Amino acid sequence: MGKVIAIFNQKGGVGKTTTNVNLSACIAEKGKKVCVIDIDPQGNTTSGLGVDKNTLENTIYDIIIGETNIKEAILPTEYENLHLIPSSVQLAGAEIELTGMKNREIKLRKAIDEIRADYDYIFIDCPPSLGLLTINSLAAVDSVLIPIQCEYYALEGVSQLMNTIQLIKKNLNPSLEIQGVVLSMFDGRTNLSIQVVDEVKNYFRGKVYTTIIPRNVRLAEAPSFGQPIIYYDARSKGAEAYTELAEEFLDLEEDVI
Ligand code: ADP
Ligand code: MG
Repeated sequence: MGKVIAIFNQKGGVGKTTTNVNLSACIAEKGKKVCVIDIDPQGNTTSGLGVDKNTLENTIYDIIIGETNIKEAILPTEYENLHLIPSSVQLAGAEIELTGMKNREIKLRKAIDEIRADYDYIFIDCPPSLGLLTINSLAAVDSVLIPIQCEYYALEGVSQLMNTIQLIKKNLNPSLEIQGVVLSMFDGRTNLSIQVVDEVKNYFRGKVYTTIIPRNVRLAEAPSFGQPIIYYDARSKGAEAYTELAEEFLDLEEDVI
């Protein structure tokens, strides 16, 4: 059975999508079967994996709101072992449409149950909000992977994030765990970045990955070419870091490569 993981932080711009695209690609490159679900209406994971958002037949919207079978929305990507369930702009209205629906919090969980066995890992890219799409994600997963940006307000919002996880555990998903915390956009030249690393490690005790993702311009460029960093520029610092993170992730899972 595959493990299902949400990349979650209700703050925008902290590196969720970048981590989703690149960690997934690195894990797939190591031979694991990976499916990425893009549940953010912005669809940055979808375009970041080179899929044109304008030509899609079925998206995660059709699965959550409609009656479409999840298997009909799975797309191959250009990369081996890496599949995608794309997002759609229609998702922006899904929060409202879901409000009146029965079982509105567990629609995604039910859908994912049908493909769990087909993958080693399923990663969900959450939107930057605490609405029903995020609740659906957190209700569907085994664990959350939390990216935190190395900036002045890094820990702002973290207590709200932890409260949300506690609420979901209590009401919808008792076995929900924290997979790990990834520090992103680290700039070793600033004392601030170094200070943030200490603060986050202190707060999350032992849950923070040793691998830290540096600020790297190649990581910011790669999405406009629709390529994960390991294919866009394999020798960049960003590619090195996400490869290392994938290795650390699999190591902690005791998943042999
Ligand atoms: P989120 O999904 O949390 O909103 P993104 O992954 O989209 O965050 O990142 C926000 C912006 O920062 C994007 O433009 C992305 O390309 C850029 N970015 C993310 N991580 C890095 C990094 N390590 N180095 C440089 N730019 C980054
Ligand atoms: Mg995003």
